[in-house]
Amino acid sequence: MKNTVALRTWLDDMKLDHPLVIAGPCSAETEEQVLKIAHQLKDSDVNYYRAGIWKPRTRPGNFEGVGALGLKWLKKVKAETGMKTCTEVANAAHVKLAIENDVDLLWIGARTAVSPFIMQELADALHGTDKIVLVKNPINPDLALWLGGIERLYTADIKNLGAIHRGFSTYEKSKYRNVPEWQIAIEFKNRFPDLPLICDPSHITGNREMIFDVSQTALDLNFDGLMIETHFDPDNAWSDSAQQVTPTKLKQIMQDLKIRKQTETDSTYRDSLENLRAQINVVDGQLIDLLAKRMKVADQIGELKKEQNVAVLQSKRWNEILGNMILEGQEKGLSEEFVLRMFKAIHQESINHQEKIIKA
Ligand code: PEP
Ligand code: MN
Repeated sequence: MKNTVALRTWLDDMKLDHPLVIAGPCSAETEEQVLKIAHQLKDSDVNYYRAGIWKPRTRPGNFEGVGALGLKWLKKVKAETGMKTCTEVANAAHVKLAIENDVDLLWIGARTAVSPFIMQELADALHGTDKIVLVKNPINPDLALWLGGIERLYTADIKNLGAIHRGFSTYEKSKYRNVPEWQIAIEFKNRFPDLPLICDPSHITGNREMIFDVSQTALDLNFDGLMIETHFDPDNAWSDSAQQVTPTKLKQIMQDLKIRKQTETDSTYRDSLENLRAQINVVDGQLIDLLAKRMKVADQIGELKKEQNVAVLQSKRWNEILGNMILEGQEKGLSEEFVLRMFKAIHQESINHQEKIIKA
């Protein structure tokens, strides 16, 4: 929910009756591929056609993009379909070429957003531009770095700004390619409530089967749009093949998403409630994850106690935990009664876990 007087943005000026949609292949591969996908997306909700020309790859030896040649293909897309175009820029030379070739929107990738030096180089190269510039979150979950990138561009008088949430890298295994850490995006929105925020479910999931669900969560959290990688033959795409969807599938996804329009008839109350409930769902998911993590540690303690033949219940340790948690809870506005009941339940579950291990 916007909690300050809204400034008009490039997105408001588009007067869309649906979230902004950016779609197109991960990479421009050939002129035929770029144009074929563009024609298949022409009569859809897609507002901007994307294609990566310069591709940042984690390991060398993979396809690294067709380079400046692809800019000519994007020009053709615009001429033949009327769709506006966008591509990723990662240095001052890319910016110059993209602007000279009439690309409408530029985005800065996750691997670039981690470097204040490169962000500053890009801010200087883009100084005063009226192009739309979107900044992806840095690959590491660092809100300040993301905010800092936006601030550098804003300070360089780039007023048509926005951000893209594409998830964060973790060492831990997860069902996501890049875990969404929704609370970081929510915090980002709280800091810059007027800045359009787009979700990129393709890079969050790394898996086309999960794109619908992540897109719906993003819309429930009031994201302003989606960027979805689209290819006529996803399995044979030259990059990110597992996460691309066909143009037909994209249209189906857009049709099935519940889009919470802020119309006159929708009361502010209902909108606020939906938004808060979506936030609660995110936090509840985190609570369950944390509890599961805690029980895994309890299991390890169970193994240790078994080896040493030590009793499961250690009353002194338990009373210490309880005392500390009651104090911490009080500081954060949680009643003693609630903290006691919750920790007794957690403790009981821990004992059950350890018992199971010791008896095994
Ligand atoms: C992309 O959009 O193709 C891309 C490389 O994304 P990211 O910077 O999020 O990895
Ligand atoms: Mn990609």
